[in-house]
Amino acid sequence: MDINSTNIEDIVKQVLQELGQAPAKKEGCSGNCSHKSNGEIPKTSRVAMLTDLEKIELQEYPIPELGDDDILVKVEGCGVCGTDAHEYKRDPFGLIPVVLGHEGTGEIVKMGKNVKKDSAGKDLNLGDKVVSCMIFKDNPDITMFDLNKQNVGGADVYGLLPDDSTHLNGWFADYIVIRGGSTIFNVSDLDLESRILIEPCAVLIHAVERAKTTNILRFNSRVVVQGCGPIGLICIAVLRTMGIENIVAVDGEAKRLEFAKEMGATKTVNFKDHKGIEALAAAVEDAFGGKLADFAFQCTGSPAAHSNIYKFIRSGGGLCELGFFINGGDATINPHFDICAKEITTVGSWVYTLRDYATTFDFLKRAKGIGLPMNKLITHKYPLDKINDAYVTNLKMEGLKVTVINE
Ligand SMILES: [Zn+2]
Repeated sequence: MDINSTNIEDIVKQVLQELGQAPAKKEGCSGNCSHKSNGEIPKTSRVAMLTDLEKIELQEYPIPELGDDDILVKVEGCGVCGTDAHEYKRDPFGLIPVVLGHEGTGEIVKMGKNVKKDSAGKDLNLGDKVVSCMIFKDNPDITMFDLNKQNVGGADVYGLLPDDSTHLNGWFADYIVIRGGSTIFNVSDLDLESRILIEPCAVLIHAVERAKTTNILRFNSRVVVQGCGPIGLICIAVLRTMGIENIVAVDGEAKRLEFAKEMGATKTVNFKDHKGIEALAAAVEDAFGGKLADFAFQCTGSPAAHSNIYKFIRSGGGLCELGFFINGGDATINPHFDICAKEITTVGSWVYTLRDYATTFDFLKRAKGIGLPMNKLITHKYPLDKINDAYVTNLKMEGLKVTVINE
């Protein structure tokens, strides 16, 4: 090509054309395996099977025939949850062998003939991006707005099911079969990162809904958020999208507190800078300009943190405890000073309802709309064949949200 006799536009066009036509070569892929992505559905799918403690093997299984109510989803990505990490390390649920991954999302590549709408009544079509929530094995008639169902505790979710004959029932895989009777949501209007964050965000939507039942959390409330891991950071984001502006974040790590500010915390308090609970409570009071918090969210799994948080709350204030997903042991409080004398209203929060799940989609759009850096919560992306590294990173508590992203 003679650069002098061709105009730049033509060169660019030619380069783009060549790029477009270049055969997509993937390392370590013979071209006849399940992870090719040319639009065709392969015969088999890889799954990441936890076969022993701290041991995940990639196994390959046939993609089964779909029933009339089933959906085949090509997995795009899935977050590693704290629950997964516990199962990986200790198998507390006794699920081994199991395909984990419940914070997943992907694209519909095949549907049974009866599948028309998602759980919120939206149309479902090939190519739609979806997430799944719970599976009502025991009660398939339950509707998403059944207010008697407090949360999904006790319901099944994909990625925490015992291995079955299809094996494609967890999101750490190339493909997953969403069976009839499961909940599924069309979330094509959210980007991949947002879709992976839906499940952890739903936990906070639920916590804030629980907090609202106290009638203490209001537009101009002073709110303290203790713990700035993913849960605490998302808590701050949810509060900001509700118009709550006066938020003090408490944590022991300067880096996390920096991020808390980016997420919308007004002030931060590093508990390592203050010796003893009195000094720490004084620092929180200081951060609110000489007043204690109206409301507090406890987002750590530390019993000491639970004991401390009452000292940050004003008389007549409220507390939402949501940090203890697992039994972290007993916490000591003084019922007289901490609860009675101050008349603190306390709520606990655990996972979410289906209604919270649908609210979460709107939250994620609003968070983006007001410029909160939600996608920065995803600090690690591993390919499926490096999933063991993803778990090791999660267990080392490095970064925030660790994910597996399929090519
Ligand atoms: Zn989870």
